[in-house]
Parts: sequence; structure tokens; C-alpha cells
Amino acid sequence: MATVADVVAWADRRYPPKLAEDWDAPGLSVGDPRRVVRHVRFAVDPTIAVAREAIAAGADMLITHHPLMLRGVTTVAANTAQGAVVHTLIGNGCALFAAHTNADAVDGGVAEALALAIGMNVEGPLVPVEPGSVDGTGRIGTIAPTSLREFAARVAAVLPATAGGVLFAGNPDGMVTSVAVVGGSGGSFIGDAVSSGVDAFVTADLRHHPATDAREAAALTDGKPYLVSVSHSASESLWLEGAAGELAQALDVTTSVSTLNTDPWTGHAPSTI
Ligand SMILES: [Zn+2]
Repeated sequence: MATVADVVAWADRRYPPKLAEDWDAPGLSVGDPRRVVRHVRFAVDPTIAVAREAIAAGADMLITHHPLMLRGVTTVAANTAQGAVVHTLIGNGCALFAAHTNADAVDGGVAEALALAIGMNVEGPLVPVEPGSVDGTGRIGTIAPTSLREFAARVAAVLPATAGGVLFAGNPDGMVTSVAVVGGSGGSFIGDAVSSGVDAFVTADLRHHPATDAREAAALTDGKPYLVSVSHSASESLWLEGAAGELAQALDVTTSVSTLNTDPWTGHAPSTI
């Protein structure tokens, strides 16, 4: 029978903590390592709804992509948002573990799941942890030639539905054959996408000024890379099924994946353009 400690050991082998960014806080945040685990739920965000859903599914352990507590916390009182999650989990005997930037970076991790889902032939990380490494931030690769308009539609089709959908910047009829992806907030990697020479860069949370600067610079050449902006949580959710399957193979536990959409935006009013 597996324990919380056994699942943690599996996760630390599969998603080595040394691959996490310095600012990150992956690992076990709630739970007793000695407790037996029969069912593990996977989700992107440890929201209260996700915690309740995991408990309703009979989970003894919840593995999320995002840590519940990333910065200094001085209280887990039940009338705070994070505290409510902690109390709900502890009260129902459910542990919480996060595999975050370490899960982004690994071979077969979050970035790779996104790349494969949108049909890329993956060549390697956009930013390897060291030259030649199979681990690192984002992925670059190729796709069968398609227009930017069709490529954005394909990305929208493979991601879970969100209110914001998918935005793109560039000539809709421009051709895309090479792509860089970074799951989640990849705005700080625009420069790497430009240097890699890809036709399109797919990521989430792109801010006005970096995106504008990149488009202005692209306009001086061939207009590339085009930018494709997706939902943060949706872009990371494609990893969950594979991770759940790997854990169920490795240990004597059953696994399942949250059905909740944790994108914070709930409505969309299209502009007339
Ligand atoms: Zn994220």
C-alpha cells in the first residue's frame, strides 16, 4: 500500500526539485507523509472548489501544478482563502503536493504536453537547463505548414474551453511551420522565442508592453514571431492526464483528473472590430 511519502518520492524522481526555479516552492504543503494513499487527484490550481471536488472523488492526496503557498504566509486561519483550502484538506485527510516549474521543465512535462497537443514535432527545450539537455523551459519544434489563423484555431480546439479563448498577433494568412511554446506565464521568454527564429510563440499572460515591443521589432523584418496568447491554466492542464497515468502505473494507487476549469475569467463580451 502506498503512502504520501511514496507518492512524494515518485514525484521527486519524476519532477526533480532541483529543476525548479529559485523563487518556486514545489513539494508537500499539506499532509502526513505516513498516511496511506489510495486515490490521487490531479489539478492545475489548488482552489477551494478543486479541494472539495478531490475530496468528493475520494482522494487522499491532491497533486496540483501551482503551489497553494508561494510567498510568505502568516496565517492559515479557516476564514482566509488559503487557510480554507488547508482546513478542508486536513479535515478530510487529503494531502497536497505541487509539481510546478520542475514539472514544466522535465522531459514529458507541462511544456511538452502542450507542444504535443498542438501537433508539434518537438525538437527540444526553448531554454535548456544546460546545452543539449532534454529538460528546460518551453519547447520548440515544427508543425505541418498552416496559416496563423488556422494555427490559432487549432490551439483553441485542443485547449479546454475558457471565456477568453485564444488571441493572436500577426498576419492571419501568414504561414507557421516552426513554433515555440511556454505553458503558463511565458512573457519573459519572448526574447528567447525571437532568437530561436520560430514563426509563432504560444504562451499565456502576455503583457501589453513586452507584446507591443515584440510586434514592433517583428514589423521591421518579416512580422515574426507571431504571438498566440492562451489561458494560463488551460495551457498547463494538458499535462494532467499523462501525469496521472504515469503515477497509476508506478504505484499501487488510482488516479483521476479534476474536471474544473480554474481560469479566473468567466465571461467574454466580443468587441465589434
Ligand atoms: Zn502556471
